[in-house]
Parts: sequence; C-alpha cells; structure tokens
Amino acid sequence: MSETKELKTTNYLRQYQRLYYRNNKEACLEYQKKYRANPENKAKKAKWMKENSHKYWRTYMERHPEKYKASQEKWKLENADKWNKYMKDYRNSAKGKKVMRCANWKQIGIVDEDLESVYDVYINETHCWICDKEFQDNRDRHLDHDHETGEIRYICCRDCNIQILANKQKKKCK
Ligand SMILES: [Zn+2]
Repeated sequence: MSETKELKTTNYLRQYQRLYYRNNKEACLEYQKKYRANPENKAKKAKWMKENSHKYWRTYMERHPEKYKASQEKWKLENADKWNKYMKDYRNSAKGKKVMRCANWKQIGIVDEDLESVYDVYINETHCWICDKEFQDNRDRHLDHDHETGEIRYICCRDCNIQILANKQKKKCK
C-alpha cells in the first residue's frame, strides 16, 4: 500500500470510529467502563504506562503544549522542595553544567556550530593557550572570543583574558 493510501485508510477508519462513537456513546462508555474495571486490563494498562510513560508524556506535550505547561507549573508549585532539589542537582551535574555553560556562551554572542564539542575541549584543557600557565580552578579558565564576529579564539587564563580586553580598549582609544 502506498503511503498516501495508507494514510487515507487510517483517516477513514478514525473518522468511522469517531462517528460510531458519537452514535453509540452510551454503549461505548459502558463498554469502556467494563473494560477498565477488568483487573487483567488494568494490569495491562499499568504495564503499558510503565513502559511507555515517556512516550505518552511526549505525545501529550506535543498535542497539548499549554495544558502540559500548566500541569508542570502546578506540579512545581506543589512540590517546590523536590523541584528545587532536582534543579540544584541538575545544575551541579556534569550535563547540567555543560548545558548551562553552552547557553551562556550563546547568550554572550559566541558563534559556533558545535558548542558542545567546544565545551568538551574547554573543560578538559588544563593550561592557558597564551601564557601556558596551569589553570588554578574552573573560574580561572576563560573562553575568549572575537566580540565582533563571535568567533572563538583562545582558551586562556583570567589574566590573559583581562590583558586581551585591555589591549582592545587601548586600540579603540588611539
Ligand atoms: Zn594566560
């Protein structure tokens, strides 16, 4: 069957089901109620939800973005402690740090197709590319970029970064 034909058939079936449901609402609801009350079916559904809850929520999120957002906000309010702890753990996790740093880079105007790879190089670099000094801590490590083009230039220490900025300032003043 061709894809379009298949789609048409699916649509037709769906419409048919919808029509049937509309015309036999009482009977359908009764049937659903019975179906759900059956412990075997209950177990089936629970099992399905357990295995597919991720997929289920993703679909739900795509279909009802507003409703999903509202329910998420509600959950956050009612579970503030849990949510704050989750966010704190996330911010301290390797992945969270990476995601936040990349977002920050983007925000300050760094342009690169693959910031995540840049981050991997950046975080594993131990020495300044300019003066070859070993970084004291994470705060000592800087990613220098051209403020006009957004292009990345060096991974350097704080002192060198300040030096670059000062030189640039000097050039401007001349
Ligand atoms: Zn340096």
